[in-house]
Amino acid sequence: MNDNLHQLRCFGCGTRADGAITSPDFRCSVCGDLFEVEYPGWGQRKGPDRPNAGALKWLWRERRCSSESLDHSGVWRFRELLPILESFGNAVTLREGNTPLYHLPRAAKALGIDQLFAKHQGMNPTGSFKDTGMTTALSVAKERGFEWVACASTGNTSAAMAAYAARAGLRSLVVIPEGKIAWGKLAQAMDYGAVTCQVKTDFDGCVRVLTQVVKEAHIYLLNSVNPYRLEGQKTPAFEIAEAFDWNVPDHLIVPGGNLANSSALGKGFREMHELGLTHRMPRISVIQAEGANPLVRSLANNQGATLEPMEAQTRATAIRIGNPASWRKAARVVQETGGWCQDVSEAEIAIAKAELGSEGLGCEPASAVTLAGLKKLCAKGAVAPGETVVLLLTGHTLKDADYTIDFHRGTLLNDEEKVGLETKIDSLRRNAQVVDATADAVLAAVKGSVG
Ligand SMILES: *Cc1c(COP(=O)(O)O)cnc(C)c1O
Repeated sequence: MNDNLHQLRCFGCGTRADGAITSPDFRCSVCGDLFEVEYPGWGQRKGPDRPNAGALKWLWRERRCSSESLDHSGVWRFRELLPILESFGNAVTLREGNTPLYHLPRAAKALGIDQLFAKHQGMNPTGSFKDTGMTTALSVAKERGFEWVACASTGNTSAAMAAYAARAGLRSLVVIPEGKIAWGKLAQAMDYGAVTCQVKTDFDGCVRVLTQVVKEAHIYLLNSVNPYRLEGQKTPAFEIAEAFDWNVPDHLIVPGGNLANSSALGKGFREMHELGLTHRMPRISVIQAEGANPLVRSLANNQGATLEPMEAQTRATAIRIGNPASWRKAARVVQETGGWCQDVSEAEIAIAKAELGSEGLGCEPASAVTLAGLKKLCAKGAVAPGETVVLLLTGHTLKDADYTIDFHRGTLLNDEEKVGLETKIDSLRRNAQVVDATADAVLAAVKGSVG
């Protein structure tokens, strides 16, 4: 069976390319921009390749009761909207996707909005949304006969790539910035058998080095410049729409690092809308850390016409990126949906993370920027009380336990960062106490925590 109905189109100049003959760094040879997967058959209103919205909704629901392993994947369950393989039999899956959508009643009340939810992509097999993109792009690598795959990473991409490569029997090369990723993520890459290089540079420097490597050796690049990653990463949009019975929420709030995820979710919502699965798109807003906010600056300074790379600085290591590859795609998503691009401070991130934690939802600091950003959007009047909001939580709390422990010990933030927020921070801190081995001492700790 030939399931492959796609082609690649340059986002910048529109040049079309066959996936098999694009350059190894996935840059357009004409203008240097990134490619996007497109499905020519979907444009013809009554063409044989245009998916039927009603039939798809029924089929995807049926698959939830199926015993096929491909149907158990929350990515491949929607495979009619990602026909990128010659045969779906080549898909490499770890049962990714199908992540929970949690209600956040306490945060909603504090913000004065009615309907606030968190789509927790940290509940994927390796603990981040990167799994949804890795299952698709790595399956393409395997189908095309590659023996090696590689990525430069702030941590989670390497963890996901190493796992999926190991499942497929491929070798993997990980290039990470020395000392600038969380240990848990590095541990995963090693556990899954990747060749791991800590390079003496930052993430953007790692990308430069690896781009050279894939031009010199037959290694398949799995950074998010690879357009097949975005095809998997668009599927949480389908899950969200399905969860709301195909009425999309008013707002979707996504962290922004390399900006592939916001681009992918926008593509997912756009395609659903074009195919008649939904009636509109949500406003999609991107939140960045103040020290790594090149898209915020670009949209504020010149409506996203150009982006000035910057040296990135934030403890939310997953979004510590100063020269984001997918910025043009993300800028388009924010602009076409009427969303916002907002930055948040280190203290605001830490507070939001502790607040999510206190609702029973652990996440990475890079995920907590969504709640921190929502607070600012509400304060600006950009989100109205009656609207439905979904925060996209991108990674699992155990990815970066050091961050959480430092916050509760009071060693995370410096005095300057805390100014004006000391009381709020102290009310959220729950440092582990050392007490005597008596019931009285433990009960005293319980008493001391009340009121
Ligand atoms: C990769 C990552 C991000 C950033 O996603 P981009 O697609 O690079 O914008 C945010 N949070 C976590 C936990 C990540 O792993």
